[in-house]
Amino acid sequence: MSETFAQRLIDWQKQAGRHDLPWQGADAYRVWLSEIMLQQTQVVTVIPYFERFVAAFPDIAALAAASEEQVLAHWSGLGYYARGRNLHRAARLIVEQHHGEFPRDFEQILALPGIGRSTAAAVCALAYHERRAILDGNVKRVLARYCGIAGWAGEKKLEAQLWQQAEALLPQREVATYTQALMDMGATVCTRSRPKCAICPVQADCVALQTERIAELPAPRPRKAVPEKQATFLLLMHGNDILLEKRPGSGIWGGLWCPPQVEQGQESDYLQRSGMTVAERSELPAFTHTFTHFKLHITPLLLRIARKPSRAQQTGSVWLDVEEALQAAIPTPVRRMLDGLV
Ligand code: SF4
Repeated sequence: MSETFAQRLIDWQKQAGRHDLPWQGADAYRVWLSEIMLQQTQVVTVIPYFERFVAAFPDIAALAAASEEQVLAHWSGLGYYARGRNLHRAARLIVEQHHGEFPRDFEQILALPGIGRSTAAAVCALAYHERRAILDGNVKRVLARYCGIAGWAGEKKLEAQLWQQAEALLPQREVATYTQALMDMGATVCTRSRPKCAICPVQADCVALQTERIAELPAPRPRKAVPEKQATFLLLMHGNDILLEKRPGSGIWGGLWCPPQVEQGQESDYLQRSGMTVAERSELPAFTHTFTHFKLHITPLLLRIARKPSRAQQTGSVWLDVEEALQAAIPTPVRRMLDGLV
């Protein structure tokens, strides 16, 4: 093969890659934001979130000046909320430590919250055209297949091998185009199932294709039973207002607003504690929300109360009109419950 892996990818990107993503050719802030949003999330989902986010927070200073509440409201629905919280913390650190300018130095970027080796390298390569190798989930799959590296890519030894390959394949020039090519290839050609090898720019010397091992490379994460949990949410309504409570900063949905969550059968304890009397009670259809590490079976209880408690509202809880609540920083399953109320 006369042309290197990198050169074939670069040529392919120019002809067939994606050129109209809203963060392409943008500044480091937008590249960083897109990289964080794209973790665990597909491009089509990310684009409208990205556009709303940069319209609300056009630069790092605006993001740093916003409250966590405002940032999470713009993240609401994207999932993995620690990403949004870290982004916000990082913006504040950039203002404090780097005068609001996204750092140029790889080590300084890596030191920011929520930024790992591959994300820092992607920002350096795409925004600063620096020669850095990336290795996100899609790239791991492309390289495992192209180089014929067997095993589960989450395993340390295998990951080290993939990093070595990623470094070795880096071109001397056009690193930004090459990095985008790898991302585009992983997302559109060398997909998890049914990769389009017939149109792949590196099919001529792809080990997986030649040895008919595409289906087994890379090996999937070893299966573990997914734990299942139950949660009851109390949709306490007065007129069109619903009670939401702010979740603690860590744990699932940290910092987001949710209806009060109780253990099964603990509904009356909650009501007694909060001094509320229920006028009407109905159980709404249960549903399951799947996280990466567990499944949550959710039972929503609609409780119409006669009067809002007269004592001062606790900090960290709020009565909001349902339409207004839908605009707040709420996780997807809560949005689903609230959507059922309008
Ligand atoms: S030939 Fe097929 S398996 Fe190999 S890198 Fe290309 S798309 Fe992936």
